[in-house]
Amino acid sequence: MSLMISVSGVRGLVGKTMTAELARDMGLTFGTFIDGGPVIVARDTRSSGPELLGALVEGLQQTGCSVTDLGVATTPGTGNRVASGNARGGIIITASHNPVEWNGIKFLDKNGSAPPPETAQKIIAIYESRNFRRDESPPTEIERDDSAGQIHLEKVLSLVPQEAIAERKFAVVLDSINGAGCSTGRELLERLGCAVTHLNNEPTGLFAHSPEPIAENLTGLCDAVRSTGAAVGFAQDPDADRLAVVDETGRFIGEEYTIALAAELTFRHRPGSAAVNLATSRMIDDIAAKHPGCNVIRSAVGEANVVTAMREHHCVIGGEGNGGVIDPRVVHIRDSLISMALILQLLSESDQPLSRIVDGLPRYEMIKQKMPMSRDRIQEFLEAAKADASDGTVNDCDGVRIDWPAGWALVRASNTEPIVRISAEAATRTDAESLNERIRRAGAHLLGP
Ligand code: MG
Repeated sequence: MSLMISVSGVRGLVGKTMTAELARDMGLTFGTFIDGGPVIVARDTRSSGPELLGALVEGLQQTGCSVTDLGVATTPGTGNRVASGNARGGIIITASHNPVEWNGIKFLDKNGSAPPPETAQKIIAIYESRNFRRDESPPTEIERDDSAGQIHLEKVLSLVPQEAIAERKFAVVLDSINGAGCSTGRELLERLGCAVTHLNNEPTGLFAHSPEPIAENLTGLCDAVRSTGAAVGFAQDPDADRLAVVDETGRFIGEEYTIALAAELTFRHRPGSAAVNLATSRMIDDIAAKHPGCNVIRSAVGEANVVTAMREHHCVIGGEGNGGVIDPRVVHIRDSLISMALILQLLSESDQPLSRIVDGLPRYEMIKQKMPMSRDRIQEFLEAAKADASDGTVNDCDGVRIDWPAGWALVRASNTEPIVRISAEAATRTDAESLNERIRRAGAHLLGP
């Protein structure tokens, strides 16, 4: 059960389900998929990374791929490097926000983005068929390239008014969780004139706290913001694609605010469409409504689905409510660096502290619940929820989301487990609970394993 092969990539427990053998097979798989073409590889800082990366490269080379190895690099840095070169794809050894006992294999398409579901399915089908391409000629030498982080950093810096931000000399606390974002995260802030207090700042892969950037794991960051009097605190996850934010009072403002704040700044300067998934807070709709010429597209859950919607609608910004912001000017991938830069620009344009800016945004309460339900009953549940929603607006691109004037509820099947997830959001917790309860009632008779 602990090996997960899904459209989002592969994750497993190191030494148990995530082994060198599996990594080599995934190299054979991806090498077959890209027909032995050029490929870029990287890893986060987990100590299991080098061995897995070595095995992965072996598999790639057996299919005839020429390999460029970025060493330790962030997911957005790797994506940016893939998108700007002639590689046919990229692979990062990372289990993202999972604990250190885990590792994973994340594929990138030739655009440097998470592959769309149909592409990911093709990759999985090659793995399952074990019908791998074989190239008997001697492998070409692995090319080492340490420049990906720097190239990504310069691109991010070129997109914000560096001097105007630097003039404010913001004090910032950054928690890099000893992950891949340590060096570029810090350099970004320093180049933007910030006085940086850097927590967990060595790329050792020894995670000082549970690595998911959520409130319960970031009490150290909140304390450091308070004790240093910083204007803002930032937390990256181990592969530096997600960012959580703490305001100057030491309050964890929630992962939903990263995309909300980035959208506020983006809409102000470059009006257009934003794409977010169905489970993302309605805050961004309210922000879009305030800015002429701006609107929000809702996609199915999953980074690749957001990216597909962004490309289709030429979105100026996009992301997910888990702290993942995508700025297409950099690359279509979630990126903690551009997220920090946009939020600092927002602060630099205001004479108010972050807490006041946040309090000026609409406030919602979101509740999330999961319930066991066998797969064959889930479709029935979705139909029942839809039938019960005649007074709302239904979006059924991924489960069923119903929007009412006062809030919304979403019911969808998990991709990996026999459960349904229900989320509901409204202005107050009581209202969110009653929307959640309404959905739950529609499917109450179907509950159970
Ligand atoms: Mg991540």
